[in-house]
Amino acid sequence: MRVGIDLGTTYCAIAYIDPKNGQAKVIKNSEGKPITPSVLYFGPDGSVLHGEEAKAYVEEGSERTANYFKYHMGDEDYCIFQNGREYTAVDLSAELLKGIVREAEEVSGENIRQAVITVPAYFSHFQRQATMKAGQQAGLEVLSIISEPTAAVFAYGIHGKGTDQTVLVYDLGGGTFDVTIARITEDEIEVLGTDGDHQLGGKDWDDALSNYLADQFLEEFDIDISADVEMNIMMQAIAENTKKQLSEKRSHKVTINYQGQKGVYEVTEGKFEEITAYNLNRTKDIIQKLLGELGMGWGEIDGVLLVGGSTRMKQVKDYLAGMCGRPPMQGVNVDEAVALGAAIRANIDLDGKIAEEKAGSQLFLGAAARKPSFSIAGAKRIRDATAHSMGMIAVNKEGTAYVNSIMVRKNSPIPAKVTKPYELGISRSKENRLEVYMLQGEEEKLANPPNCLVLGKYVFTGIQSGGERTEKINVTFAYDANNIVQVSAVQERTGQGLSLHIEPVEEDMGWVLEPPKGRQQEMSVLLAVDLSGSMAGKRLKEAKKAATSFVDQFDMDFTRIGLVNFSDNAILYQPLTRDKQLLSQKIQGWEIDQGGLGYGNEAEPFALASSTLKGCSQDVRYVVVLTDGYWYEEEEAVLLAQKCHREGIEVIALGFGSANKDFLDQIASRKDFASFTELSKLETALTGIARMM
Ligand code: AMP
Repeated sequence: MRVGIDLGTTYCAIAYIDPKNGQAKVIKNSEGKPITPSVLYFGPDGSVLHGEEAKAYVEEGSERTANYFKYHMGDEDYCIFQNGREYTAVDLSAELLKGIVREAEEVSGENIRQAVITVPAYFSHFQRQATMKAGQQAGLEVLSIISEPTAAVFAYGIHGKGTDQTVLVYDLGGGTFDVTIARITEDEIEVLGTDGDHQLGGKDWDDALSNYLADQFLEEFDIDISADVEMNIMMQAIAENTKKQLSEKRSHKVTINYQGQKGVYEVTEGKFEEITAYNLNRTKDIIQKLLGELGMGWGEIDGVLLVGGSTRMKQVKDYLAGMCGRPPMQGVNVDEAVALGAAIRANIDLDGKIAEEKAGSQLFLGAAARKPSFSIAGAKRIRDATAHSMGMIAVNKEGTAYVNSIMVRKNSPIPAKVTKPYELGISRSKENRLEVYMLQGEEEKLANPPNCLVLGKYVFTGIQSGGERTEKINVTFAYDANNIVQVSAVQERTGQGLSLHIEPVEEDMGWVLEPPKGRQQEMSVLLAVDLSGSMAGKRLKEAKKAATSFVDQFDMDFTRIGLVNFSDNAILYQPLTRDKQLLSQKIQGWEIDQGGLGYGNEAEPFALASSTLKGCSQDVRYVVVLTDGYWYEEEEAVLLAQKCHREGIEVIALGFGSANKDFLDQIASRKDFASFTELSKLETALTGIARMM
């Protein structure tokens, strides 16, 4: 049997589709209740209890309990110790899921293996992943993770009241708040946008009330009950009960007995509203923000759907009725709506068609479901949306700062996919990796500590070198139908998918605030020019012009250039420098047989290049050779050039005049690093090389 599970902060519920009539129904727990407290108790004998039984231990003040762990989903640092072992939020959720599924199996007499689990719409990538993991750890095949408000829209659809209208789903549970705006037509639910705060829920109303009552007691008896842990637990229960009473009547009397003193306080509806106004206002702000983002106003909202136990509070209903101009829609139990919707979703595909068992053609629901006339009430095609933008750290257009470059915007329909090409410089000496810092959040300007959720450093490896200087990598960024981020990459030339692993990011991400040049790769370039006798005259003049333009192409903040002259000897005519003017003066001063260089082609520049560039192995290193004729010792030159290649020094060779193209191919470190040009095009060719570097 496929079920829908509402895994709430304070309560959970589980529902299925009744094969008799295609209606979603909640499976009551063994005590006959539709909802079960999200609480665990770890018995001294190693047993784990859940639900009402476990909650009874919380009320006793037992430390063997766990609750509110949904707050910590996705937080890898959170864990508690019980019965000698560690439990993360995922482990605790898995225990709870096991408990409620076992109980539902006992009550229904059916096997439960597959489930749709709901999460707040505002849940991040990590929180959704954690929920998926908890389900799997509990032995379930998690068909999908869907957002609670989206699930609720399905449930309201059952009653046929949701056709062709724009609705606002106000979902206030025990610990989370979500707001979703959806367009419902006869056969489709389209989520237009969603927002929320997963640290805001009914518990905040309880806390405000419990603090107020403690203040009253302190004022009257000068006794601080909030300092007593056990008393605090009791006060939570008293506050929650008072809050619930105030959903039914206009005032409620609270009695507090402590240290022989008895305080009796009348809490009116008005007082309750006053001391909790801050919380309600937080929900109002989030709604206004969402309406603003969608360019909508309250006037375009046809109705409000309520989800979550906390929407029973009168202040919530009053506020929504005031804004919408009509009372919230009725007819669905707010505690059950999410689980019912999840059960519908568990049994249909994204197109709203009845889902089939993966293994074969059998439908999931047993005999009744196989009848062709069968249909599921409330089933519709679904188009959900992203709750957060997905981006990556990139350099802005001006090259002046790192920014969050957004790939998939918040409120885009899911599944959503964007593919971006990357030109990756290929190194011979180091492993080639493509690193992408993935982010989830809205701020385009980065901050330290980060103002976005940093999903990690996604590292692609297995990039094959085909002898080209760069390789094109197509990276696909996607939100899958579960709103979970998926990133993959394919090397264009080979068509092969690259392997991906996710590395933790640096603890100090301060570099994101530095100008990008701090991380730009430094370059050391030696321009080696053949100054043999054949270069005399026009060739030398053109070479000077070309070399000057070549130097001009570089940003000397990141580049050092040196000059090697060779003929029968090779000399370091100008050591590496960032001084463009000096380089240009030295180039203008080139002469044949300068300093006894000779007239022939006896010498090669590679041995000198290797020793000169040895000290800067952190840089990208190049030797650019410009030559117009045959070299006498080609074989030795090739060997020494190859030694440069092995050392990670790239060799680029440009020939003209009577240079030997085959030889150039051999000394160049890559196929496309060797070229031949005419004298008239020397300047264009050499500046082209500079730009390619
Ligand atoms: P949920 O997580 O959706 O199950 O919501 C649970 C929250 O709803 C808890 O904070 C409960 O205290 C609150 N709640 C349940 N019933 C009522 C009620 N009648 N009036 C006000 N709050 C309620």
